[in-house]
Amino acid sequence: LKTVVLEKVGRVATHEVAEPTPPKGGIVVEIKAALTCGTDVKAMLRGHPKMPMPSPLGHEFSGVVSAVGAGVTNLAVGDPIMAVHSAPCGECFYCRKDLTNLCESAMDTKVLGAFAEKIVLPEHIVRQNLLPKPESLDFAAAAFLEPLACVMHGIHLAKPHSEETVVVFGAGPIGLLFLMMLRLEGCRVIVIEPSRMRRAVAEKLGAAHTIGSGEGALESVLELTEGYGADLAIECTGVTQVWSGAIDYLRRGGALLLFGGTPSDTQVCFDTNRLHYDQIFVMGCFHFRPVDVQHAAQLLIDGKLDPTPLISGETDLAGVEEALRKVSRGEGVKYLVRP
Ligand SMILES: [Zn+2]
Ligand SMILES: [Zn+2]
Repeated sequence: LKTVVLEKVGRVATHEVAEPTPPKGGIVVEIKAALTCGTDVKAMLRGHPKMPMPSPLGHEFSGVVSAVGAGVTNLAVGDPIMAVHSAPCGECFYCRKDLTNLCESAMDTKVLGAFAEKIVLPEHIVRQNLLPKPESLDFAAAAFLEPLACVMHGIHLAKPHSEETVVVFGAGPIGLLFLMMLRLEGCRVIVIEPSRMRRAVAEKLGAAHTIGSGEGALESVLELTEGYGADLAIECTGVTQVWSGAIDYLRRGGALLLFGGTPSDTQVCFDTNRLHYDQIFVMGCFHFRPVDVQHAAQLLIDGKLDPTPLISGETDLAGVEEALRKVSRGEGVKYLVRP
């Protein structure tokens, strides 16, 4: 079987591996669709602290059950499924506080290797974060479950209300998924994004306004909000200057959700008076809980949210490296990998 491996920073190769056997309570999935993600791109270009190399690559996928382990009774070979690549332990300090997205072991027990013919899912994922994929939902759309669950968690924290004006910084895959989710909530969304191509996608997906990120973006947002600023801002670029500048776009009492991961060892400054007297609420956001996965899956299954306009092209395993390089150059949003 073929699997894509990140051998070292900058080098991706396809390896031949043996047919995997499912662990007790776990399953083997034959991948039907996988998606490139910014995390894969970052891992390839600069390495990742949680990915000692050589490392399997890819974590957004859907597929068909190809083998079941002992004790699995609710799944059978041939069942189409959608799943994410991690699940909480249910027992640690954070899990007991119902902050399962912050589970102490979820990151260490996550599964990579969606750019492959097959992937093994352990018991704790099968039990909590795997759902049957209905016929009506295609594999490509189902593969969006993981990024959509992350965005769903952000929505859970930011609690946008209908009619509110929300500024989304960055129209990469996450920013665009936020845009779609916010539209479902009835929000008016302003997207700030330097790439003309991505702004065009945002417009198609229902952005009320799109603005290039250069000079004048702040003035434009203030003009569009009668001088007050937005109710909510969502940062999806991971650029520290955008993190710190984002509070300027908010009205008093507004909220800022910081979603985009920045390089490690970076700091940002905020105007203390703005945070205090204008009562700005600043939130970090990380990962998702099983309930977010359930909610995200429901949106896909019900057809309320169609993420497939985010797919810019399609490739096989041999083309993964090129697809990741394209994303890193800002060519396209996400690429669909069909092993
Ligand atoms: Zn991802
Ligand atoms: Zn835990």
